[in-house]
Amino acid sequence: MTTKTFITFPDASQAKRSLLDMDEQQLADFLAELGEPKFRARQTWEWIYKRYAGDFAAMSNLPKALRARLAEVATVAPLTLATEVVSADRDTVKCLFQLHDGQTIEAVLMLYDQRRTLCISSQAGCAMGCTFCATAQGGLARNLTPGEIVAQVLYFARYLADPALPPDTDVERPAQVTNIVLMGMGEPLHNYANVWTALRRITDNDAFGLGARHITLSTVGLAPMIDRMADEGLQIGLAVSLHAPNDELRTSLVPVNKGYPVDEVLAAVRRYVAKTNRRVTFEYALMRGINDTPELAEEMAAKLQGILCHVNLIPLNPIPDSPFQPTSDEDTERFAQILRAAGIPATVRLRRGIEINAGCGQLRRAVVGKAKAS
Ligand code: SF4
Repeated sequence: MTTKTFITFPDASQAKRSLLDMDEQQLADFLAELGEPKFRARQTWEWIYKRYAGDFAAMSNLPKALRARLAEVATVAPLTLATEVVSADRDTVKCLFQLHDGQTIEAVLMLYDQRRTLCISSQAGCAMGCTFCATAQGGLARNLTPGEIVAQVLYFARYLADPALPPDTDVERPAQVTNIVLMGMGEPLHNYANVWTALRRITDNDAFGLGARHITLSTVGLAPMIDRMADEGLQIGLAVSLHAPNDELRTSLVPVNKGYPVDEVLAAVRRYVAKTNRRVTFEYALMRGINDTPELAEEMAAKLQGILCHVNLIPLNPIPDSPFQPTSDEDTERFAQILRAAGIPATVRLRRGIEINAGCGQLRRAVVGKAKAS
């Protein structure tokens, strides 16, 4: 494992306009305020979304004076890299980014044989309070803007496309982000408008242009927002973090279950499937002695009958000093077998980057906690 920590300073870009928070018309209006003709918006847009320019200096077909002016008043990189950790097997890269106001967020790039999957954050912190999660411990700092969400994607697109930047990974150097999961810090449906603005930018062929089917949004189960998502008309995948099949246990792990109990969440999922005809994924973080018994597997299988779904079993990525520990491989397989025997497709998801704090919020906890202690 290699770790690089970059010293960061309070960012002067705080007063700068983030071009990533603008649609193309807003960008044209902004450039018009600077006295620029309309076609400059298209040129700038293409530098950002098609060529992943990380600064104005790279935008070689813009006049030098305009590049200098833009660098004074605007930014195309609202994230500053604070820490980068590459796993020992060099197929997982986790970054901690600092935002202009000092908040920090995480994103992880996972290199598989055919896929380059990016896990991104939707909020700085999280208000959902899941008891086993590192992000929950600091609460919610704030929502990310659409530009801060898109910026994570552009950062890694640049990283993969630039021969000088990627680590000397064992995997043949991939050139593009192929899949995105919103499973990093935050509850995406708690920052609904900004997340959907970002998703439209990411999937827009005129902007980043990744197919919606290659994106999965993971929610803890905000039922009304699942209904809203079903009406968006984008083929984004839905994953629901269930973690328990009954209210008593689920509320102890996922407190938001008090407001949106299991049956209400599952009813919203049924409506979502009926409307979109899309298969939903249920995420289930297996915790030793907590939610991994055969009885719970049977209860889970009964609850999910008739839903077009798939269950992802994930042995928990443990937080140091936490009472929650991962289920053994043997018990994980037993849980999966019970689901399968009841006709529920279930797979065990590989834990990636366990030694690099790749679980949600863990790197931030490690780095920021250390900085506070020193
Ligand atoms: S598991 Fe997800 S929803 Fe729950 S507190 Fe952590 S980041 Fe928030």
